[in-house]
Amino acid sequence: MSAMHRTKDDLIDPGRVAPETRRLCIHTATTRPLPLEIAVDEYVRAGVSGITVWRDALAGRNVRAAGERIRKAGLEIVSLCRGGFFVNADEEERIVAIEENRAVVREAAELGAPLVVLVCGADPAVPLPVARDQIRSGIEAVLPLAAELGVKLAIEPLHPMYADSRSAITDLATANRMCEEIDSPALGVAVDVYHLWFDPSLEAEIDRAGERILAFHVCDWRTPTRDLLTDRGLMGEGCIDIPEIRGWVEAAGFGGFIEVEIFSTEYWALEQRSYINRIVGAYEAHV
Ligand code: ZN
Repeated sequence: MSAMHRTKDDLIDPGRVAPETRRLCIHTATTRPLPLEIAVDEYVRAGVSGITVWRDALAGRNVRAAGERIRKAGLEIVSLCRGGFFVNADEEERIVAIEENRAVVREAAELGAPLVVLVCGADPAVPLPVARDQIRSGIEAVLPLAAELGVKLAIEPLHPMYADSRSAITDLATANRMCEEIDSPALGVAVDVYHLWFDPSLEAEIDRAGERILAFHVCDWRTPTRDLLTDRGLMGEGCIDIPEIRGWVEAAGFGGFIEVEIFSTEYWALEQRSYINRIVGAYEAHV
């Protein structure tokens, strides 16, 4: 593709950015060292069109003003990350989690984010079937406020390596089933290639999700993976067939942003401007 010749240090002139970047969104967590305002300016400079804001990036800021600044700079706010963590052996803690999720939904509305992504939660002290019931109850408790404020919720199934402490929902089939059972127009799924790429039923489950696909996250799976959380690869560095999965979500009707979400201590240590250029190049070549 057009950008394959690009080197990591090329500066990108927005005037010659390919139209394809109009669907490119970057998560603030991908460029975690950058304060929100600088991230916004750097994304715009690189021709990126969308931003998903992680809550830590909003710390100490007026959320409404932050949203206005982002839009004024020319970026679309794709989602707020993240809510969830509904699972806990302690009932009091589960109630606290539901209140916290309502606060996240209000924050999304203030920011102007149409979507909150849910990392649904898990607790090693809670058996997985019970954990899933707790997730369902938590989502059902938060949905009325979300619907009232015009904010959608997306269940993001995580890789099963996180089933102990991050999410009892580890495949798209389980997320789809929960969406179908709850049956709310304000609830859908987030498809993240990192968490789902190996699932033999992925194509069928993406088709089943259809219009419930509210977000599409990309990065790559490194071999070896040196850290379970913070060693994700740039697109094209690993073994995930991202274009194939992208084709499935688009065939299912998804036409939204393609969101680059990379947690990587290696990449966070880089100079972030040239790293953002590398992200754009990897997106154009490998997504
Ligand atoms: Zn994700």
